[in-house]
Amino acid sequence: METNPKQCLHCAKKIAGRTDKKFCNSHCRSSYHNHFYSDRSNYMRRVNGLLLRNRKILADLFALQRGGTTVPLSELYVKGFSPSHFTHQQQKDKNQLFTYCYEFGYQITEKNCIKIIQQTSIE
Ligand SMILES: [Zn+2]
Repeated sequence: METNPKQCLHCAKKIAGRTDKKFCNSHCRSSYHNHFYSDRSNYMRRVNGLLLRNRKILADLFALQRGGTTVPLSELYVKGFSPSHFTHQQQKDKNQLFTYCYEFGYQITEKNCIKIIQQTSIE
């Protein structure tokens, strides 16, 4: 969008007076900022929602895992797991990359299976 300095950023009306003004009045200024910040927090809410859903899926599968058995990777996708959303990764060994959603991490093992672990402290 083109930003003409003589147009209000909120209502696009021509601004009278000083040419460095961005809004015609304080109402337009606060409306604009409220909209901007609510868009940003909506985005964060959606990402947080995906992360929490991923965490719940890993936590549920972890509880079912019993003694370190592996789970087919497809199980994650069936449950709606979003692999592109995670909190951090940890390289434990040369071929052991764990991807975490909060305290639950997973590693892709042979045959498209995953091993889920629970982190007990923040490293
Ligand atoms: Zn305005």
